[in-house]
Amino acid sequence: MLGRYARGMVASHGEDRMPRFRGPSDLHLHSDHSDGTEPPARVMAAAHAAGLHTVALTDHDTTAGWSEAAEAAGSLGMTLLPGMELSARHEWRSIHVLAYLLDPDRAGIRALTDRIRRSRLTRAQTMAERIGHDYDLTWDDILAHTADGATVGRPHLADALVARGYVRDRSEAFAGILHPSSDYYVDLYAPDPVTAVAAIVDAGGVPIIAHPAGRGGLLPQRLLDRMLEAGLGGFELGHRENGEPALGVLRELCARRDLIVTGSSDYHGLGKPNQPGEFTTADDMVARIIASATGSAPVFP
Ligand code: AMP
Ligand code: FE
Ligand code: FE
Ligand code: ZN
Repeated sequence: MLGRYARGMVASHGEDRMPRFRGPSDLHLHSDHSDGTEPPARVMAAAHAAGLHTVALTDHDTTAGWSEAAEAAGSLGMTLLPGMELSARHEWRSIHVLAYLLDPDRAGIRALTDRIRRSRLTRAQTMAERIGHDYDLTWDDILAHTADGATVGRPHLADALVARGYVRDRSEAFAGILHPSSDYYVDLYAPDPVTAVAAIVDAGGVPIIAHPAGRGGLLPQRLLDRMLEAGLGGFELGHRENGEPALGVLRELCARRDLIVTGSSDYHGLGKPNQPGEFTTADDMVARIIASATGSAPVFP
């Protein structure tokens, strides 16, 4: 039987929604609406300068950057896939679910993102307070490094620590003061990945697991099965944090089940070394994402 996102299903969709985008495509970029360091227009300009023609803005748990990104992408002749990277957690492990072309106003997804973002705020405040006992750091320092209304996270705490001279860069902060094993660390609320996938599907979006073969290694088979049953579209196999042997297992799974495979940079401006276009997504895979989504439309130039 053909799955929801299979090639055959896509081909049978109406001509009207068949894509007229062109590659190269990078479907995972962050702006300062979450933990990227640049506003959406600058992110779009960086993507354009890297030679990309199709991009997705995927800020953590927010879609607030979509309109600015759409305008900038259009003026640069690029196609924008509105997206998001939803925070989820399985046991101790943080799992990021990319969501493409969803309707962010559907009740289920709205409830999740609102709750995550509220939790992120109190969590960041608690962490800042704990750090403040040992370091000269206040909530105002964090606010100074967080754009208005942005999804706040440890990267903003890291930037404040860098500015105070306690660490050299975000990586050093993540390896020490902000590490989950540190006394300053506080968990954020994040839904179960199956719940996250189901909410994205319900919002008409296409869910793809971000950097699925990262430090944590292979996700448990039972979780993979449950996410696929809930409508998971595929996996971001092209990402600098992925590694063997998990990558090989997922490659085989994607081939066997005819899943969507993407590749992306996970650009964060100056917040990470990742550069736009360092991994890209094949045209037929972008076409499958566009053809299977019903929540929102790509923005063509
Ligand atoms: P949080 O979701 O607030 O717990 O923070 C996790 C975020 O921090 C992820 O979205 C990553 O993009 C970012 N991050 C994780 N490790 C690093 C690192 N070593 N350097 C820069 N950013 C990182
Ligand atoms: Fe991030
Ligand atoms: Fe991520
Ligand atoms: Zn990301």
